[in-house]
This record gives sequence, structure tokens and C-alpha cells, in this order.
Amino acid sequence: RELVVSFGEMLIDFVPTVAGVSLAEAPAFVKAPGGAPANVAIAVARLGGGAAFVGKLGDDEFGRMLAAILRDNGVDAGGVVFDSGARTALAFVTLRADGEREFMFYRNPSADMLLTADELNVDVIKRAAVFHYGSISLIAEPCRTAHLRAMKVAKEAGALLSYDPNLREALWPSLEEARTKILSIWDQADIVKVSEVELEFLTGINSVEDDVAMKLWRPTFKLMLITLGDQGCKYYTKDFRGAVPSYKVQQVDTTGAGDAFIGSLLRKIVQDPSALQDKKKLEAVIKFANACGAITATKKGAIPSLPKEEEVLRLMEKA
Ligand code: ATP
Repeated sequence: RELVVSFGEMLIDFVPTVAGVSLAEAPAFVKAPGGAPANVAIAVARLGGGAAFVGKLGDDEFGRMLAAILRDNGVDAGGVVFDSGARTALAFVTLRADGEREFMFYRNPSADMLLTADELNVDVIKRAAVFHYGSISLIAEPCRTAHLRAMKVAKEAGALLSYDPNLREALWPSLEEARTKILSIWDQADIVKVSEVELEFLTGINSVEDDVAMKLWRPTFKLMLITLGDQGCKYYTKDFRGAVPSYKVQQVDTTGAGDAFIGSLLRKIVQDPSALQDKKKLEAVIKFANACGAITATKKGAIPSLPKEEEVLRLMEKA
């Protein structure tokens, strides 16, 4: 049983055709399919692993396009349902010249937010070795209840639960609610991954020292990861901890790097779960995941940048 099932949103980012402009200045936009949970499923499949995506799309041209992208990338789309009354989510995104990201979301509500517990493909979820999710699906009902139910089904069927909150502040009614709801399912995870920004958001402390990270640690966790961009990541288990540097690359666009990182890590964990208890094995897995994140950061967009195994091994051998 090596299936990674990823739950949540899949959407289309519209990104400017030219770099460094505001949304208002952008002369035109191109479609960049994404949504962190969908990226994670594709990251696993690109490495040759079994992956499934569970979520809802609009029964429209964009929704059907996204489902086809999942299938074309070898992801089981049996858990995808279509809403005839709501559109596929869209987001207009740009990285301005001053380094600030600008977002405009079209989710009023979008199809992904309307997934109900009854619509869950329980058979797919029960086959998961790892069940992975974010926090965007916790924001609004009925998807929130569907999310909680899916976690329960997966856990009862023996899956490891993997959580990457992927904070998107603008989508929440308030930052306080974001913090509370993100932490409301914290204790149930087996594996959690947060970025430096999320660590600060959740703890209120701007530091990646171990004592700060440990505020997010729970005794039931099997693995906690703090990703540090080009610096690689820090990791914590019950018995050992450490830091693993990343690979030196020419950074172009980090979109999807975190998804490549966690997707590749989960791919390796389902192949050999004993890595969670073995420092040497775990560090080898994390090195591989760092390499996947690094490669993804060298190319524009998320899905087109997710690497195949050969590409990852090439970077690791070269270093
Ligand atoms: P995201 O930005 O996708 O929401 P994130 O903040 O977790 O997620 P990053 O920390 O940017 O993602 O990247 C995840 C991993 O990818 C890092 O831990 C690192 O291993 C690798 N990585 C990202 N950017 C670079 C880079 N410029 N050089 C080398 N490795 C990188």
C-alpha cells in the first residue's frame, strides 16, 4: 500500500505574462494550474508514485481542464467531483518589483468550497498510505466538514496524516480565525510541514530556534519539518532532530517548491516507512525532498517544474 491521497483545492492561477508588475499593470495573464494539494499529488505521480486527488471542481471548461491535467500526470482523479452550480476557483497572482505578492481570489463561493461529506470518495481515501491536506479547505462550510470527515476516514483506515497548512492570509475572515482553525486539527497529524513564515504566524515568535519550533511539536507526531527556502529545512522526530541543507541552484520562481518538497518526502516515506525511525534514512529522504524543492525553484510555475526522479538524482550526484 503506497498510495498518497491529497485532499483540497485545485484551481487556476492567472499570472502576468511579464515579470515584476502589479495586477493592475499586467498587460495579460497566462493560466498556471495549481492549488497546493493538487500540486502535491502531481509531485508524487511525477516521481512514479501512486497518487490520488480528492476535491471539487466546477463543471465548466476550467474544471474539466484541471481534471484532465491530473489524469495526464498519472494522478487518480476518482475522488474528483464536479459542481454544476459553482465555478472552478481562480486566483490572479503577481510578484511585484518590490518583492510583494499580490493576490486576487475568485471564490464566491468556488466549487472547491462546496464539497460535502456525502460526496467524498471514501474508497479512494481508505486506500491511502498517507492522507495529505492543507488548511484552505477548513475555511468554509460545507468543505470544512468534508475535510474533517475525510481525515477521520483516512485515520481509521490506518493512513498516516500529513498536514501542510499553506497559510493564505487573504482567504480567511480574520488572522485570529486562521490561527485558531489551522491549529484546531494540529494534534491529529502524524507529519506536519511549516515554512518559516507559518512558524512565526502560529507561534507569534520570529525565530526558527528549536525552542520556538518545539512549541508546535506534539508527542503524537512522527515528523515535523520547518522549511527554510534555499537553506533547506530543519526536522524533528520523537527521538532525534537535525537540519539538512538544500542544493545550490539558480532560483527563478519558488512557486510549488514547498509542494514538491512535501510530495517527494511522502513518496519516499510510503516506500519505506521505517525512515521515520532511522536518522540516516530520514536524512536521505529529506535530502531528496530538498533536491525536489530546489529543482522546482529553478523553473517558472508549479506543475511544469515538478521533477522526475532522474532529474533529482542528477542534481544530487552533481553536488
Ligand atoms: P511554498 O513557498 O510552496 O508555500 P515553502 O515556503 O515551504 O512552500 P520553500 O521553503 O520555499 O517552500 O521551499 C521548500 C523546500 O524547497 C526548501 O526547504 C528547500 O529544500 C527547497 N528550496 C526552495 N527554494 C530553494 C532555493 N532557492 N534553493 C535551494 N532549495 C530551495
